[in-house]
This record gives sequence, structure tokens and C-alpha cells, in this order.
Amino acid sequence: MVEYATDIIRSSQNLRENLEGAAQLFMEGPDNRAAYNNEVLFDAPFFGYAKGDDPIWLTFREGVGEDCWSPIEAFLRKYPHSDARSSDLTVVVIVCPQTEMTYNEQKKAKGFPGRRWVQSRFLHDQVIWGLCINLTSYLESLGVPAVVPDLLEGFKQIPHPRFTITSQWSHRHAAFAAGLGTFGLCDGLITKTGKAHRLGSVVLQASLEPTPRTYTEIYEHCLFFSSGTCGRCIARCPAGALSPDGHDKNLCRDYLLKTTAPGISRLWPELDGAYGCGLCQSAVPCGNRRPAFKS
Ligand code: SF4
Ligand code: SF4
Repeated sequence: MVEYATDIIRSSQNLRENLEGAAQLFMEGPDNRAAYNNEVLFDAPFFGYAKGDDPIWLTFREGVGEDCWSPIEAFLRKYPHSDARSSDLTVVVIVCPQTEMTYNEQKKAKGFPGRRWVQSRFLHDQVIWGLCINLTSYLESLGVPAVVPDLLEGFKQIPHPRFTITSQWSHRHAAFAAGLGTFGLCDGLITKTGKAHRLGSVVLQASLEPTPRTYTEIYEHCLFFSSGTCGRCIARCPAGALSPDGHDKNLCRDYLLKTTAPGISRLWPELDGAYGCGLCQSAVPCGNRRPAFKS
């Protein structure tokens, strides 16, 4: 490995700029396009940062359960002999917004998702995992150990008595920690560009300035919780999976697997094997903005 002045790199603004520059470059490349039609899959990403020893990770674990990894637990799964402590780590969360074309097409869709939305969902691994792997390799080439939690061995989804299903690492929770937004009634994370996006995250051994959280409540950007209005996502859901009580993940998953999957392969053979919906993430007040944001 090339020798670098790692103390300088790890704590400097340079690392953040380089990391974001590398991500932007990746998103301008072929991995952010569908090979069969060359359509761009996601817009330019933006980023949030959280400290590895932020007490919020403990709060998540208390809320979700012992299976929920903290940043240091995820990190040590890849680097079991590291002497890193929680305070040495930063979590960077990357938000990749849907393109305007995808969003506008999805906005017009009723009862069944738009083709471009399904396409970007289908090629999610190519873009989001590709981006996170690319960043990890880049960081490691600088002498900065880095981990993609949801690609670690042992990562899995787990049945949960209250939340139906959870996993050891949630990008949305990490994004909340990293100052990027709060949750909506339908469980999506409402960021400054709304909730039509996909998320990725990387844990790295470097001390980067955390992004301030401008909110205190988990549903602060959702009109339903902040002012008792809206509920537009409930009406958008073709599966009846949304109600004032929240998101029924079983109904949602059944709709994705039993209705959208066969429909997609009939309508768009090039997307055979895909499933997806996301109707609750468009044509709603929080689709592409933060409706209840108090600046
Ligand atoms: S559509 Fe309305 S109720 Fe649903 S998540 Fe967005 S702001 Fe909340
Ligand atoms: S993804 Fe589709 S099925 Fe699931 S909650 Fe949203 S609108 Fe309903």
C-alpha cells in the first residue's frame, strides 16, 4: 500500500473533499447508467456524516434490539484485529436522488410504478453498492480502513415483533444520525430533496466533522406527525399498506412480490426479475422536498 501522511488525511477537510469527489466521479461514469438504454439512473449524490461514538447509535439499538450493529461492531467484523475505538470512526451516508425524469414519470403513475423507477430499483446494486465498494477501495488506497456494513458477511434481515422485519444496519437510521432527514408516515426518509432516493453508507476510520442534525423528532419533516395534515401517501398506496398507523410491511412486500414482479416482466422484459413500487414516494408533498422543515 502507498504510504501517506494518514494523520493529516484522516482528520482533514481534504479527505472529505476527496471522498465526495470520488463519489461524484463514479456517478458520472457508466455504472450509473442502464447498459441496455444508457439512461442515467440517479442524480448527483449528497452526503451526511455522523460520529462513530454518537450516543444515537445506542438509542437505535435500544429501539430496534441487540441485532442492530453499532459502527464499531460493523467495522470490527471486517477488521477484527484493529485497535480502533468508536470515537475513531465516522459514518458517511450517501443520498442518491432519483432523476427528474424518473420522478416525473413516477408522479404520473397510478396503481403501478413507472418503468424508470423500477429500473433504478433493479439496478440499485450496480449503482449504490458499486459506489460504496468503489469508495471503500479508494479510502483503503489512502490508508483509511473502510467498511460497507450491508455487504459484510453475516448481514441479514431479521423478523422483528414490532417492526415486522429489521436488519443489522439501516441506511435510513444512519442517514437520520448523519443529519440528512427524518422519517415519514410511510417509513421513507424525508431529506432536503424529499424521499425519492436510494441510500448507501460506509463506516471509515477517520475523524470527519459530523453534519449537524437540525431536528429533534424522528418524524419532524412529515406533515402528518408535525401538523396532523396530509396523509397523501396513504391514498397513493395501491396495496392498502399505509394508514394513520403507519406502514404495513407485509402488505407492501406482498404487493411488490406478487403483483409488481409478474407485471414488470410482462410490461418490460428487459427488467425481468425486478420488483418495486415507491408510489408513496412521489406525487406527495414530501416526494421531492421537505414540507415540514423549520429552518
Ligand atoms: S405524504 Fe404526507 S403523510 Fe405521507 S410521509 Fe409525506 S408528508 Fe408524511
Ligand atoms: S412502496 Fe408501494 S406498496 Fe409499499 S407502502 Fe409504498 S405505495 Fe404502498
